[in-house]
Amino acid sequence: MKVAKFGGSSLADANQIRKVCDIILSDKDRKLIVVSAPGKRCKEDTKVTDLLIALGEKYYKEGKADAELQAVIDRFDDIVKGLELSPDITQMVADDLKKRLECNNGNKDKFMDTIKAAGEDNNAKVVAAYLVSRGIDAEYVNPKDAGLLLSEEYGNARVLPESYENLKRLRERDKIMIFPGFFGYSKKGDVVTFPRGGSDITGAILAAAVKADVYENFTDVDSVFAANPNIIENPKPIATFTYREMRELSYSGFSVLHEETLEPVYRMEIPVCIKNTNNPSAPGTTIVPKRKLDNGPVIGIASGTGFCCIYISKYMMNREIGFGRKVLSILEDEGLSYEHIPSGIDNMSIIIEQKQLDKAKEERVVRRIKDELNVDDIKIEYDRALVMIVGEGMMSTVGIAARACTALAKANVNIEMINQGSSEVSMMFGVKAEDNVKAVKALYDEFFS
Ligand code: ASP
Repeated sequence: MKVAKFGGSSLADANQIRKVCDIILSDKDRKLIVVSAPGKRCKEDTKVTDLLIALGEKYYKEGKADAELQAVIDRFDDIVKGLELSPDITQMVADDLKKRLECNNGNKDKFMDTIKAAGEDNNAKVVAAYLVSRGIDAEYVNPKDAGLLLSEEYGNARVLPESYENLKRLRERDKIMIFPGFFGYSKKGDVVTFPRGGSDITGAILAAAVKADVYENFTDVDSVFAANPNIIENPKPIATFTYREMRELSYSGFSVLHEETLEPVYRMEIPVCIKNTNNPSAPGTTIVPKRKLDNGPVIGIASGTGFCCIYISKYMMNREIGFGRKVLSILEDEGLSYEHIPSGIDNMSIIIEQKQLDKAKEERVVRRIKDELNVDDIKIEYDRALVMIVGEGMMSTVGIAARACTALAKANVNIEMINQGSSEVSMMFGVKAEDNVKAVKALYDEFFS
């Protein structure tokens, strides 16, 4: 059995939904289908999920949001008409939305999740109805009936372990199942959603639960590329890479799959195949537990900006027991999470995402570290980029760091920090954000040209 997930752009209008249904029918193993809400039809368009958020916000504040409600109904009506389905289906969507709006009991997060989930839920019903209208044995599956139980963290839910046992039973069904992504239910029976982009997570959970042969993730690109196409012109496509490589790449700027997606499939060692709805015969990119290391030591280059570095120095830091713990507990008190801590004998640099800091927080952290730890120097350097080269093959190749550093030096990029984790799957360079593009280009030329 294959689990196939289709993203919002693959289901943005009637024409796209027709393509999706053809893809489903072209392989009899594609039995469990996860759908997103309709996404953007063109660059300037608005995703249905965003329309729903606008609807929920306004209704929550003002108890009325007729124009916003109509905007959502119109999107579905367009699809229903384009697929030549009965107008009853548009009526069903309108009734469902009104029912959800009436659920407002003063808990905003809970209310918003109920509204946000309407995009996926109704879209799954529309896709199932369309397949049935073509004479196909298909059904909409309700996540509550199927037993997809989530933690009660609105907008940020996690799957509860018992879900896997419940969802396993979907294997026994004969029909093609259309399952809405992005949400499940708390034990109390309320709708809870994953973080944005969370339909990928639903697909991965289902693939793990039914022990799928493959988890296919259909989107709007032919494959994953070795570097960001906005920086490198025509970067090389990657045919196959490992979960570990994908994790490192998606951490530092590759945004193909939602970060949490790989966890359930990784545990079950289920391959993930990323494919293009608009070009389904292209081979796509496959993510596997292990691969042959036959295409160079470096498989991809990623980078991210928006980091800052808290630099701390104190003479004899290496001899002071508990120093690191005390610094980290100050960060913990302030609710700050850190990314990396490269250190020397008398200094440490703590890299954090700078959006976590505001002026007041920054002043408090600096003052506390100064006062409580008696440091010689502390400063915060803003606007740093982390540039990363990733590849399992680096482990067994001598001289990768030398090649990377030489390439950066030739491009006149000053490396402020180097970090290679013990996994040796990646090597990371901290540079000024203004050098980010230059650094990625230099590394791409070195390892791929
Ligand atoms: N529709 C949701 C979003 O836009 C979830 C998804 O598409 O994966 O975030």
